[in-house]
Amino acid sequence: MECRPKARDATSTSGRVVAGCIFFATTAVGAAAIAGCETPPAANEHVCSGALAISTGNLTGTSLPPKTLALTFDDGPGPRTSELSTYLVDNGIAAGFFLNGKMIHDTTVLTQLIADGHVIGNHTQTHASLTGKSTGSWHLDDATTVSEVAETDALIAPFVTANRFMFRAPYGDYDWGSANALNASAMSKYTGNIYWDIGDHMGPHRAADWDCWSPGKDGIVLTVANCAELYLEEIDTVGKGVILMHDPYSIGGDPANGGTVDTVKILVPALKSKGYSFVRIDAVPDIAATLPPLPPSPAPDPGGSGAAPSRLTPARGTRADTHDWTTTAGDPASSGDGKATAGAPGLVSTEAPVDSASASGGKPDPCASSPQRKPA
Ligand SMILES: [Zn+2]
Repeated sequence: MECRPKARDATSTSGRVVAGCIFFATTAVGAAAIAGCETPPAANEHVCSGALAISTGNLTGTSLPPKTLALTFDDGPGPRTSELSTYLVDNGIAAGFFLNGKMIHDTTVLTQLIADGHVIGNHTQTHASLTGKSTGSWHLDDATTVSEVAETDALIAPFVTANRFMFRAPYGDYDWGSANALNASAMSKYTGNIYWDIGDHMGPHRAADWDCWSPGKDGIVLTVANCAELYLEEIDTVGKGVILMHDPYSIGGDPANGGTVDTVKILVPALKSKGYSFVRIDAVPDIAATLPPLPPSPAPDPGGSGAAPSRLTPARGTRADTHDWTTTAGDPASSGDGKATAGAPGLVSTEAPVDSASASGGKPDPCASSPQRKPA
């Protein structure tokens, strides 16, 4: 399996670069590490400095309300991604899929993911560790770092919703060097590193789903039910956040044996019964704040069918990026069928001020708005 765990927040840094502004948490050391910054700013000062977009730290789901989750799936697309996409949308959930370019053999499934209301992100072309930390390899040079992201960008860009370009580093391996390389290239249009809160601390023997499907430290291959139970335990312990999973993987590498997709089918009803709600990854407030605004939702049908228009079950084959798919509720009590309703628990607005975004070339410009985000 390709993905391995890393210590949570191990790559957190003292500053971050978001949509044109550099935020400094504390140190002159962190400030001095940023190219083009001649004078280390004071603590918590933000400095507007051009079109930088990639953060030097990790964006997680800590800004979500309690019992609110964002499902994300890495390393695909895989043989059951289409099935998973259908299952999720049928259950009122919009997810994020961070894709490896090497796995994209045709774009049919990308079309479906977008039509089903999900978003796709960039997980590099070959799944190489940018820093080498998790693989014991060398830190990639700047040109290779950029090409890893750019090659996948060429494949997924036509399917990225509303110019919401999101990046997740393989293994979560990411540092100042990676950020600086990307920010010096056309890949600065991405927001990242999109990290996670849940999916790497599943007890003493397992990290995440990929680790369920082969003999772990205890020499045991888990069942789908076992793996789902470990996820539920971690989710209940953490309470909210971004969940990391990997839809291509299965027991023994054979989809017929069961795997991550089957785990999701256990988790979703279990989480709904516990009162958890779901939002799309780009609706996580700390992440949404770095992204361009979504287009306004289309006006309700003036014909008046009598039923509230669902924002969760688009017609297949249509692009969904004019809808607000970022809000999904998993609380069955909210709608009776798990689909989102206005005012349901867990809804999170992702709209950014239009004037702020236009002033920064499509990215919301935090320097033009009064609220200052916390450093990562
Ligand atoms: Zn991965």
